[in-house]
Amino acid sequence: MGEDLARVLYTEEEILDRLGQVALEIWDDYRDKDFLLVGVLKGAVLVMADLIRALPGTAPMDWMAVSSYGSGTKSSGVVRILKDLDTDITGKHVVIVEDIVDSGLTLSWIKANLASRNAASVEIFTLLRKPDAAKVAVDVKYVGFDIPNEFVVGYGLDYAERYRNLRCVGTLAEHVYR
Ligand code: IMP
Repeated sequence: MGEDLARVLYTEEEILDRLGQVALEIWDDYRDKDFLLVGVLKGAVLVMADLIRALPGTAPMDWMAVSSYGSGTKSSGVVRILKDLDTDITGKHVVIVEDIVDSGLTLSWIKANLASRNAASVEIFTLLRKPDAAKVAVDVKYVGFDIPNEFVVGYGLDYAERYRNLRCVGTLAEHVYR
């Protein structure tokens, strides 16, 4: 897989370090609250696994699946729920766990959708944020890393369902697209 990468942006060690810091922040903010981590399938699986284990105490998790991207590299802007939460979030403090915010379309839709279910609060943690995210009014409370406007894979992020199992985050070499 490594030969398909043009550049490594973050190593596994750097990602785990940053997740550890964010986990402590989230714990400080939510430890006394009835809170729930909501992961967005499938990209956030790896982020959730390491984030939740870095929390100093226990926390519940639940999952949603929405469609936003096809197999290409551009956001379609169309959001559809493929799998909904199992949990009734009425009165709960929700922290959405995402892999990446690009246009922000997907997340602003999910955030509004969860808020409409009478959650006590809905905040967002994303491991990666691209510059375009700033253009949409989606308020992201916790950010792992701000990255340049490039298509990245690894650590849960895919290109046509491949490379999710890379331990680092990197950009793809040009020969992969061709
Ligand atoms: P947005 O609606 O443009 O913010 O897109 C969010 C979703 O698009 C993410 O959850 C990813 O699944 C996907 N995505 C956006 N940028 C990338 C990327 O650079 N690599 C892989 N997937 C991406």
